[in-house]
Amino acid sequence: MTIYQMLSRNARKFDDQVALSDDQRELSWQQLHERAEQLAHWLRHEYGVQPGDRVALVLPNSLEFVIGFFAVQRLEAIAVPINVRLTTAELEYIIADAQATMVITAAATDAAISPIIEAGLPGLWLDRWDADTVPDAPQLPEMEATETSAALILYTSGTTGRPKGVLFQHRAIHAVATMIAMEMKMTPESKLLHLMPFTHSAPLNLFLMAGTLVGASHVVAPTFTPQLLLNLVQKHRITHFFGAPVAYLLTAQDPAIADTDLSSVTHWIYGGAAMSTEHTQQVQKAFGSDQFYCVYGLTEAGPSGTLLLPDEHGEKAGSVGRRAAFGTEVRLRTEEGYAPVINEPGEVEISSDGMMQCYWRNPQATTDTFTADGWLKTGDIAVRDEEGFYWIKDRKKDIIISGGVNIYPREIEDALATHPQVAEAAVVGVPHDQWGETVKAFVVLREPMADMADELRRYLSERLADYKLPRLFAELDELPRNANGKVLKHEL
Ligand code: ATP
Repeated sequence: MTIYQMLSRNARKFDDQVALSDDQRELSWQQLHERAEQLAHWLRHEYGVQPGDRVALVLPNSLEFVIGFFAVQRLEAIAVPINVRLTTAELEYIIADAQATMVITAAATDAAISPIIEAGLPGLWLDRWDADTVPDAPQLPEMEATETSAALILYTSGTTGRPKGVLFQHRAIHAVATMIAMEMKMTPESKLLHLMPFTHSAPLNLFLMAGTLVGASHVVAPTFTPQLLLNLVQKHRITHFFGAPVAYLLTAQDPAIADTDLSSVTHWIYGGAAMSTEHTQQVQKAFGSDQFYCVYGLTEAGPSGTLLLPDEHGEKAGSVGRRAAFGTEVRLRTEEGYAPVINEPGEVEISSDGMMQCYWRNPQATTDTFTADGWLKTGDIAVRDEEGFYWIKDRKKDIIISGGVNIYPREIEDALATHPQVAEAAVVGVPHDQWGETVKAFVVLREPMADMADELRRYLSERLADYKLPRLFAELDELPRNANGKVLKHEL
């Protein structure tokens, strides 16, 4: 099934049921379908968009984003959603790499995108577009796209370097949508709240598309704040929410949570980064729920990978579960090969129907990322414990090698996070003449601390081996994060 076929089917099947709302406006499935058709017609007539063209979508989460996304699909073009928080230079890089032929945007992103449009890239401000302006042009032809046609290029957020375009066919999007709809028991009665940017794989492929597949209702808002999460869940009786761990942590700390009715939510889903045991407990208590689902995956995998289920969150919180999601297989390649060896670090490999087809215009990177038998190398180092649970130790690229010994930053970050005065921490390797690399910790404190470095080193020395102790400490007001809540280690 193609992405547009999902929409057309919903328009026939659920016609006036609410598909999409933004707290002020509401569209039924039929209205959404009509808008997408009208816009597609306009884009073909006014901008000449053809099958296979790349159309950049520089829009916040909004009705416009969803209409624009489906209109691009109607034209059998390839959607390239790009985060609105990027600078002009970052937008320029992605637009040039994708060889986009036009951009669809909205007033909110004027500042960054305007210079690019002024320099010659055709652009449509969708919030100023009049849906009733019907071009005097022949009707659009029937669609010919099949499940193996290219549908979408998502740019990895570049937490480890320059963003790379990840190309998906329709069948991959359909597979990931099916996986999550099944695993998270979505139905046409479900109500999904979207506060994480649609420009990333989990919010778009996994959450928006899964809900669309089953005909659930979507509530969208342009950005995440704890207040929005609390207000919208209560007001719309939301059943499913997906967020980064940091979104849950910030909401758990908001005093208003105590007076908010969150009882409609059956699935609190998080992923994209780990949630430590301490943070999981803190969040579960504040949210008054134990219905938390952790999803582990990466853009290139759809994202699909493993799931940690609610009843596994006790002593296994902090792991990513032991079961690969529906339609997905996971294996670990250690120095012993693929034979299961308990607690032996190895690289996670994933095989799934939802995987990318390739990196956009980067055949070398594609070849390097797949094994000879077609599995995706994730670049994540994990161990499997006695019960088969996977614990992600760190990304291969983030591992610090000091004096020839591997040090996993995440282990040190987790230990620092248990200190009562540390709000959050990130650990990186910095060059060192003698050791190659040495450990540096960046911390955000809850309140100022005298002799911070000495105190934290003393605290850690009771918990970690000597060679893992940070030699350098720095205090920050906040950690640099991307729009999806991930810490930007290369900036640190
Ligand atoms: P880039 O690949 O350019 O660095 P990125 O970090 O944003 O960009 P994503 O595909 O969004 O790329 O991130 C995937 C990575 O996030 C995984 O490889 C893994 O390291 C981490 N990750 C995802 N989910 C989890 C999870 N539940 N627990 C721990 N780590 C996770």
